[in-house]
Amino acid sequence: MPYCLWCREAYSPAASWGTLFSVSLEERFCQICEERFQAIEGEALCMICGRDLRLLDERYVENRMCSDCVRWEKDGWKDVLQKNRSPFLYNEFMKEVMTAFKFRSDAILAQGFKETLQQYYRIHFPDSVIVPIPLSHERLNDRGFNQSEHLACLLEKPIQPVLVRRLHEEKQSKKSRKERVMPRSNPFEVKADEEIKERLEGQSVLLIDDIYTTGATLRLASKALQPLKPKSVSALTLARGW
Ligand SMILES: [Zn+2]
Ligand SMILES: [Zn+2]
Repeated sequence: MPYCLWCREAYSPAASWGTLFSVSLEERFCQICEERFQAIEGEALCMICGRDLRLLDERYVENRMCSDCVRWEKDGWKDVLQKNRSPFLYNEFMKEVMTAFKFRSDAILAQGFKETLQQYYRIHFPDSVIVPIPLSHERLNDRGFNQSEHLACLLEKPIQPVLVRRLHEEKQSKKSRKERVMPRSNPFEVKADEEIKERLEGQSVLLIDDIYTTGATLRLASKALQPLKPKSVSALTLARGW
């Protein structure tokens, strides 16, 4: 009998999992826990950031885009990020699970998202070159673990960790509101390795991160990749805010 990754209760795999029964010892969430995650589904998603437009007042929707993405385009970020998709809402339960995953380094928890992430890759971003969002050295030392790289590994495809994050950004609380959305300089840069350049040229690139909040991190990372001439840069993030 498998045990749930979160509540550690033993559970019997649902009949519908059928052939999955043969891999039932693979770690996953039980049905009760799984139902506490809120999937982002349906057709009414912002075509850029994947936000569920039904959750927004219609004043904040324009040409199938949310007002945040409209503002990004007006501010000169058009096509920098082709699209983001997040399978789940960042609800209270996801927050709890992510906190355990990121800060207590319960890396095994991420296994529960493997199937979903692989499915998203297949459907939305087939054949994309995978680039995880890096942490700065300082933060990596603090935490000992990069959650984005870990999520990227779940896709079981080759990963190109071509980005570095230069500086340890100041605490959010010390920044002005504007700087919280967009820092003064881009913290991302491409590794100084000539060979890397060819790996992304003309390719669809997929950035992997844990959470989509303002979308600034992903856009800055994409901007840093532009000199490598990718065909497009998109993102797959596990969860996003409302
Ligand atoms: Zn459970
Ligand atoms: Zn949007």
